[in-house]
Amino acid sequence: MSENRTIHLIEIPIGGKGGYTWNRLHSEREDICEALLKDDERKESLQARLRKIDDALDRLMSGSYGICSSCGRSIDDRRLDIDPALELCIDCWGRESGLELSSSGDVMLESLNAFDSIVVQTYRSVYHILLLDPKTGRALIDGGEYLTEPSEALLKGSLGSEFKVGTISVGCRLEMWVDERVFLTSPIKSVHVKHNSALESVQDISAALH
Ligand SMILES: [Zn+2]
Repeated sequence: MSENRTIHLIEIPIGGKGGYTWNRLHSEREDICEALLKDDERKESLQARLRKIDDALDRLMSGSYGICSSCGRSIDDRRLDIDPALELCIDCWGRESGLELSSSGDVMLESLNAFDSIVVQTYRSVYHILLLDPKTGRALIDGGEYLTEPSEALLKGSLGSEFKVGTISVGCRLEMWVDERVFLTSPIKSVHVKHNSALESVQDISAALH
């Protein structure tokens, strides 16, 4: 794969952000092609990723990039910043990966088990939460602008027209304590819960966060 693949922004028929995304996808594509030549063990997963990237490039060229391929709604820009090859919005992704969408819009922490994982989509970010203690709300959380790596937090409840203790509520802001400071998210759009068995190893737990 040594043919000249140098990409110049000026050759790209899409302006601004589209060109940036195109470059990101193409440079990952190059890396995968290179890895495919050397790494036989990961061949299947590399090829699967390559297909995802090619699909994303197709969508970019056809003008459907950033639109969920299942329901047609737009995919959150911040999630695309993390993975530019995403094809599903958070709700469709949650459904396909077996997460349970909270139907009532309220998730009571006490009704969950330790090591359940929760994905909270707010208007501005996505938060991944690994619940450590449903009674106290102790959890590991990452996401948003400030929590760029898993941090220990105390989930307090949801702030809407009233404060709901120990609850994550769609439409409200999630209040938590991180490093002894109060942290309030933007309003919650959706909550997904994935139930995990309590006997998972530490390795599985860190994988559940991502
Ligand atoms: Zn969707």
